[in-house]
Amino acid sequence: MNAITNHMPTAELQALDAAHHMHPFTANGELAQKGARIITRANGVTLTDSEGNQILDAMAGLWCVNIGYGRDELADVAARQMRELPYYNTFFQTTHVPAIALANKIAELAPGDLNHVFFAGSGSEANDTNIRMVRHYWALKGKPTKSIIISRKNAYHGSSVGSGSLGGMSAMHEQGGLPIPDIHHINQPHWWAEGGDMSPEDFGLQRAQELEQAILELGEDRVAAFIAEPVQGAGGVIVPPATYWPEIQRICDKYEILLIADEVICGFGRTGNWFGSQTMGIRPDIMTIAKGLSSGYAPIGGSIVSDEVAAVIAGDEFNHGYTYSGHPVSSAVALENLRILEEENIVGHVQDVAAPYLKEKWEALTDHPLVGEAKIVGMMGSIALTPNKEARAAFAAPAGTVGYICRERCFANNLVMRHVGDRMIISPPLVIKPEEIDTLIERARLSLDECYAALKEQDLLHSA
Ligand SMILES: *Cc1c(COP(=O)(O)O)cnc(C)c1O
Repeated sequence: MNAITNHMPTAELQALDAAHHMHPFTANGELAQKGARIITRANGVTLTDSEGNQILDAMAGLWCVNIGYGRDELADVAARQMRELPYYNTFFQTTHVPAIALANKIAELAPGDLNHVFFAGSGSEANDTNIRMVRHYWALKGKPTKSIIISRKNAYHGSSVGSGSLGGMSAMHEQGGLPIPDIHHINQPHWWAEGGDMSPEDFGLQRAQELEQAILELGEDRVAAFIAEPVQGAGGVIVPPATYWPEIQRICDKYEILLIADEVICGFGRTGNWFGSQTMGIRPDIMTIAKGLSSGYAPIGGSIVSDEVAAVIAGDEFNHGYTYSGHPVSSAVALENLRILEEENIVGHVQDVAAPYLKEKWEALTDHPLVGEAKIVGMMGSIALTPNKEARAAFAAPAGTVGYICRERCFANNLVMRHVGDRMIISPPLVIKPEEIDTLIERARLSLDECYAALKEQDLLHSA
């Protein structure tokens, strides 16, 4: 077979892709007909595809390329580490400098008593670690019945059997026999879609108190932990009302259940602080990290664990780990990513420059006839598309029909903006400049206009 390279025609690459490559979260039959878009290179916030289009990536890949594309420093560090020590494990009383250095750096950056890191290859793996770690923790403390983990509907915690069970995506639970036992889901604090006539504040409080009800119903002696994203990402960038998190923290403290903050998206500057827990004012016992930890340049994830939990776990052999836990190349790349985030004050850039600028422009989108609410925290935002703003109405068409039309207009206008149902979401690289934010907003507006025209034409502007 001839070498498959960037120089081949797009259609040929698409055919080869369809022949042998199974895409995640994709109807592959449909994609094979249409042909996948082929991304060939990237720099800063801009992707280039095989047709030479320059696309503004308002999703930072999959929420991960926090420092932007094209940073040679990370490539150099990876090459150097591969030459020096491409691989060694950390299982059998051995360690290596990249894992030592990265664990120390993460402990320094993480708030409070979160001082210990258990490495994984991804966010899904890290959450699988968390399931086993919190259950083992309670067993070691003589309370083996405390095994239930409470999570939320429409949460995303990964796609493995364990983390997919923690997540609350019904479409995932429908396939492959999920969830595993002893995972309990409560409702999400999604005021726009589910708040009815309540004020956001009252609604936030009520949804938080569902945690207390669940603990009382299940029994305090059965509940090990509560897990949640500080701001739900894949569920549609759902920012909880201000009343939500303080009440959750109160309940976790009162019943002494462990709080796991899934920081896979919120961590490493996304919300304007190093961690989303700081933005939301919570004190987790464990944080899940991945994505922005390496800005996606190499796969790595992990669990940041409190002194207390780590001390209990240290009392026994924890029969758990991954071949690539603390992988030297990924660790070295992540460490270099953290150096850049810190030395270039990128979190400060988010807080002082990028987030305030984006917030103003993003919230102004609510003047568009299709846009209901616009929510944003730091560099993650969402807009609700609606046929009737006052009623906060959903469309009569099946959920996602309109979102998909809008997403297709964005793609055609060289903007990557994702849709979750009929919500449009962004999570651009943190290094995005004000003039690039202007371009993002211009393309978003154009796409919304075109979507609106298409809805009129197809007679889709009806409320459910
Ligand atoms: C992406 C994501 C995960 C899963 O991470 P993978 O690296 O894809 O396994 C877990 N939690 C949250 C909040 C995520 O956004």
